[in-house]
Amino acid sequence: MKKIIISLSTIIMIVSGAYAQTEKADLVIINGKVLTIDKDNPSAEAIAIKGEKVIAVGKTSEISALIEKGSTKVIDAGGRMVLPGFNDAHVHFGPLDPDFIELRYTTDPSVIAQKVKAQVAKSRPGEIINGGHWEHEMFIDKKWPTKELIDSVSPNNPVILSRADGHSLLVNSYVLNASGITKNTPDPFGGVIQKDPVTGEPTGIIKENAEGMIKSGAVRPNRTAEEVRVRLWQGYLLALKEAREYGVTSIQVPGSADFNAYEKLQKEGELTIRIDIGEPLTGDLKKLNKYLELGKKYPGEGNWIRFGYLKAFIDGTIGSGTALMFQPFTDNPSTSGLAMMPYEVFEDMVLKADKLGLQIGTHAIGDKGNNWVLNAYETAQKVNGKRDSRHRIEHAQTLQASDIPRFASLGVIPSMQPTHCISDKKFCDKRIGTERAKGAYAWKSLADAGAILAFGTDYQVEPLNPMEGLYASVTRKDRLGEMGEGWHPEQKIKMEDAIEYYTLGSAYSQFMENRKGMIKPGFLADIVIVDKNLLTIPETEIMKTKVDYTIVGGKVVYSSSGK
Ligand SMILES: [Zn+2]
Repeated sequence: MKKIIISLSTIIMIVSGAYAQTEKADLVIINGKVLTIDKDNPSAEAIAIKGEKVIAVGKTSEISALIEKGSTKVIDAGGRMVLPGFNDAHVHFGPLDPDFIELRYTTDPSVIAQKVKAQVAKSRPGEIINGGHWEHEMFIDKKWPTKELIDSVSPNNPVILSRADGHSLLVNSYVLNASGITKNTPDPFGGVIQKDPVTGEPTGIIKENAEGMIKSGAVRPNRTAEEVRVRLWQGYLLALKEAREYGVTSIQVPGSADFNAYEKLQKEGELTIRIDIGEPLTGDLKKLNKYLELGKKYPGEGNWIRFGYLKAFIDGTIGSGTALMFQPFTDNPSTSGLAMMPYEVFEDMVLKADKLGLQIGTHAIGDKGNNWVLNAYETAQKVNGKRDSRHRIEHAQTLQASDIPRFASLGVIPSMQPTHCISDKKFCDKRIGTERAKGAYAWKSLADAGAILAFGTDYQVEPLNPMEGLYASVTRKDRLGEMGEGWHPEQKIKMEDAIEYYTLGSAYSQFMENRKGMIKPGFLADIVIVDKNLLTIPETEIMKTKVDYTIVGGKVVYSSSGK
């Protein structure tokens, strides 16, 4: 983390000393190994909280003086590690579907057919069967699945199964027919309808913009409006529960989400996460002005539901072979990826949104895609003047060496998801070659060049569990572990830094580093206690680390013991 402006109130607190506090605390944590992420006071034993804020950080003996018998809640951390709550800077958070077929980590494609069959048995003919998170690179044969895998078990139901990256779908013949997609259907701009090289028939794999052509032809499930409402509400509660259990206390949702739903959750006392919700980037001034209104309704000064950044897509993914590269893919020289729009269109949108003072976050995976986005952000600074815009590149996955220092010099935030590296590395060298892979998931080079990184997961592309991201950052190894130093080990970072990017870095990316992301007097009391010391355990233990307490705004919202 680079220099952060210290506010006057912070200076006063430093001068007066953290424990000059005499006010009694509502909640204290004692006997912890507190990693504060505060450079002025990196470690401590105990924390005092009043209301939603931290009021003192220090030794157990000092903080214990702030305990009021009978009214202060005391958590004895018993030597466990205490951290700021995790802030997922890029997460597709929303209500969970209880019937979604989870295919993550599937290695045997026949399992997909079995799971679809089981869900069809529970459904009426014509009802949609949704699932996803499969990755053909994890399959034993590493081949793209085809409609034949699922056709025989789903003759009368539409089936849509998304790849883990969401940039490709596997659909069955029912869906192809309902969508009117045949061997004669041309690819749309920025999309691919995969066809069998011999027969020319669509295989059932639909990529990128072609996903917009899909019509499931599904019949509406037989549910009353009340049942639908209850299911949706339960879906939100399920998602929030998952976040609490993983120690995720803040999330930043790209694209869009339902502001009203989160307001309702907050009113009912169910909202246990701080959430920034964005909208899609556009060049339409009417829409941009609406975004400004949304920004006033959910202002940046708020701490719970806030208007976030404007999201755009410049390209696809490496996994789907649609990332925009300067040179063709190593394993498929006929393509160098797909631009989701011409550069000029993108630049025009950036200039307009930037001029209105809005923050932009653009999905960019390929080296050329990233280069385009940096160019557009640079042009915005030239045309509109330089300001503290904190535009972001979401993923920033492959970079040409000369673009790495531009993040720091332009003040662009690489918003990265470490687990993408360990999920994609198994095909990355093959797709883009070892030389280009040197600039892939290059978080160490970016940090060394002075960029401020924000970490997240891209859930539901990847699991929400921050421990997987921490593991990926420091090992660059498979989840199951592997011998050796990891994939392009020169890009590994220290655990302290990974935690910082996941807390203070993410807070910086949303202009909240003055009140979130550190355990420090005056800061929001978003805190987790974990059951292992992440700084000292062997790497094989990192993903086994569990959250014992999650505290948001001074309230214990989860404890593993239920107390
Ligand atoms: Zn995403």
